[in-house]
Amino acid sequence: MRPVVKPTITQYNFDDYDVMRRYLFPAIGAYCSYCEQPISNDSAVEHKVPKDADKGFPDYQVQWRNLLLGCQTCNSAKGARPDKNDVPGGSSMGEEDWYLATMKLWVWPDSTPETNTEPALSGDQTYRLFQYVSDSRSQAGLLADGLLRKYWTGTPVWLNTAATMTWVVPNETYIAGQFNADALRTRVKTTITNLNLNRYNPNDETYNDRRVLNRTAAYAAATASLQRLQTVYQAAQDNYKGNARKAVIRMIVKTIRQSVMAMGFWSIWFQVFRGALDTPPMISPWHGVDVSVRKDLLLRTLVYYYAFEQDNNDTVLIFAGTDVSRLNLSTFA
Ligand SMILES: [Zn+2]
Repeated sequence: MRPVVKPTITQYNFDDYDVMRRYLFPAIGAYCSYCEQPISNDSAVEHKVPKDADKGFPDYQVQWRNLLLGCQTCNSAKGARPDKNDVPGGSSMGEEDWYLATMKLWVWPDSTPETNTEPALSGDQTYRLFQYVSDSRSQAGLLADGLLRKYWTGTPVWLNTAATMTWVVPNETYIAGQFNADALRTRVKTTITNLNLNRYNPNDETYNDRRVLNRTAAYAAATASLQRLQTVYQAAQDNYKGNARKAVIRMIVKTIRQSVMAMGFWSIWFQVFRGALDTPPMISPWHGVDVSVRKDLLLRTLVYYYAFEQDNNDTVLIFAGTDVSRLNLSTFA
């Protein structure tokens, strides 16, 4: 998940959460907060903690901190979760404490651990908690691994049919290094399963959830785009100088950026590009390219526009609301 930081807003309609779209779109961009697909038309104002009285808190339904944007598929999958009744001893808490404890059952793209009131655990860097892996798995296998919520009846044969797709899993390498690893892992798995981010059924003729398919296509596009970047970068070094060289590289960067914006799935692109550009091994074509050049390519593609493309702005976020402070860029080497 792309980490986002929402600006503080002071004026909004306190009665109707649907009005909050007009603040959410410019704040965090027209992308689903959960699956990261572009929201091309119908959107859902997401209540992180449900607004239903039996599972959530109606009084919190227009609170800015409780709101995100979702696609209709994630909105339906999420339903009235996380459920406040899953908080041990919740009913004996005050409402605010119970609300925050319910929030802490999941991880959220806009949660930061900086203050005591924020619903995050130490180590909650959002994008570092999730990993996108392309390998062969079945729905039965994902269910057994706690990465899927059961959504079928009976024991259909397709359950055990493995498919090579891009799946969402906890980033064990990162999570294991946190002192609260078990709690973080549980929260990440709870988030993945309740949103049913790994739901995939090619055998159902009425199947209407393309998140896994689209994510897989985005992973392939990111991998191919990284290869194109490397090819064009090398050709520019070999054949151009000065401003001409800069212009050629800028063109491929802009083209890739437009692909990311059109396809969505920012976290997948960031994982693929950072994986290649950050600390490249000896065998990588990026090995030997100056760190400032590699970091700049990553930032211009996925994080910032730069001044020469946006007059009067030093840095403009490509995806509104991206929380750069949680991208762990200081370790880029
Ligand atoms: Zn979604």
